[in-house]
Amino acid sequence: MKTFTSKIISAVLTGALALGVAGCAQPAANDTGLKTVEAGKLTMATNAFFPPYEYYEGDEIVGIDAEIAQAVADKLGLELVIEDTEFDAIIVGVQSNKYDIGCAGMTITEERLQSVNFTTPYATGIQSVIVPEDSEITDVDTLLAGDYIVAVQTGTTGDIYMTDDIGEARVDRYQKGNDAILALTSGKVDAVVIDNEPAKAFVAANPGLKILDTAYAEEEYAMCINKDNEELLNAVNQALDELKKDGTIDAIVAKYIPAEG
Ligand code: GLN
Repeated sequence: MKTFTSKIISAVLTGALALGVAGCAQPAANDTGLKTVEAGKLTMATNAFFPPYEYYEGDEIVGIDAEIAQAVADKLGLELVIEDTEFDAIIVGVQSNKYDIGCAGMTITEERLQSVNFTTPYATGIQSVIVPEDSEITDVDTLLAGDYIVAVQTGTTGDIYMTDDIGEARVDRYQKGNDAILALTSGKVDAVVIDNEPAKAFVAANPGLKILDTAYAEEEYAMCINKDNEELLNAVNQALDELKKDGTIDAIVAKYIPAEG
């Protein structure tokens, strides 16, 4: 999101209004010294159907990512603006300077590192398998070996790994985790592969489902940032480091994910 003035400047600089408007935006420096998409603001893209990392409480997007990003923005002296979008639009939006950061329980992968930088990790995730309680699928090997249909969230690591392992024909893609779960509860698919914490939240909200004991893949979550904005990357890393050391991140995670046992 750009201001009218910066759009004009960008258009003059590029000499092409069409390009200026169509996503060749350049971040503007502000009085914090950091270049952001909108001066004084930290614009974060997320997909707010991924509890407990991001979800709606009324009109507000809350969750672990929202709170960590807020704490980072406070440290950087920037106002946090959260924008909800499809998960697979986040990296593209960060690359085209529509958003400053992507913060969406996003796993660091080699492929994504070709397109964006990632901050240091702030959480770990596990790809889990959800099935109906009475399912004959008892572990990941059974799931992979059979001709079962698996629902995933489009563009996520669950999607990428399942498509690699069992092929397009057996993977059913949904934009929201909730919709993948709905496909399972309505009997359209045999299983859902999704990150473990959202999996727990979805299973708690939908009686008759369970999570398999065997995990599918282990991952690390980080925020993604435009490759050209190293100052912002360094500043966010510095803020994350301080927030890890002073216990803020642990406290935020503990608020949303009570310790088990
Ligand atoms: N961790 C997974 C990924 O990065 C899923 C993230 C999500 O759905 N928000 O692909």
